[in-house]
Amino acid sequence: MDGAWGTAVLIGGPAASGKTTTARTLARARGLRWYSTDAHTWSHRARAVARGLHDDADPSPGTFDRGPLIREDLDHLARRRPAVGVIVEGALVAPDFAPLDRSVWLMPSVDEQRRRLVERSGSPTIDHGLLHGHALICDQLTGTSENVIHVDGQTPQETVDAVEAALAGALAALPSARTTAERQQVIRFGNRSLADQLGDSIAHGWIDPELDRRPRSFDCECGEPGCTAVVQLRPGEAIAVVEHPAGAIRADAHCAD
Ligand SMILES: [Zn+2]
Repeated sequence: MDGAWGTAVLIGGPAASGKTTTARTLARARGLRWYSTDAHTWSHRARAVARGLHDDADPSPGTFDRGPLIREDLDHLARRRPAVGVIVEGALVAPDFAPLDRSVWLMPSVDEQRRRLVERSGSPTIDHGLLHGHALICDQLTGTSENVIHVDGQTPQETVDAVEAALAGALAALPSARTTAERQQVIRFGNRSLADQLGDSIAHGWIDPELDRRPRSFDCECGEPGCTAVVQLRPGEAIAVVEHPAGAIRADAHCAD
């Protein structure tokens, strides 16, 4: 595989399969960057508008092919310091796009996906587009069972362990953050993506920070090895916090040095 793929591993799967939780946990444990395709929706839209691929008058995130933009992001990250590997995750990590030797797909059964979607939304009504995504990925993965991790009955940690085992070779070859300052910068990349996505969602009118006060999970930036703490920030708070340097977002018990 060419270029930026060599600095990444990829985790795909349908909605509620555990992609984000697994990728964030692994990235923190191993000092890697977490790259969520979902967290780059608006930045990709802006670039597509600039290149004439999307009409700015159309308020939607757009239906242009985001694969080339993701590859550009990875090329850019491969040149960034500290030089560390990237864990890419999201619904756009499709089997026809991602290199099979560096990718896994988390697959719940249809019943398990339904159960998780209901639990996550708190509503018994399920968006059928999300279930459709499940069928699509199953179709595309036919014949490549070595890339599939069946997540029914797994705890989040068991899913993380299964991904580490399946991608052991590729993960071992990725450089990782070594110092506290490097870990802080690497964690800030993920937090910054989340905050920028929230800021753009507010700017585009998709989120009203006065009405949507549901907290989002940001990773503690203390940079201690093994820290798994998260910081809950509402959209209005989150977009301000990242004006401070990497290391500023701290869980209560993980005070500044
Ligand atoms: Zn911490």
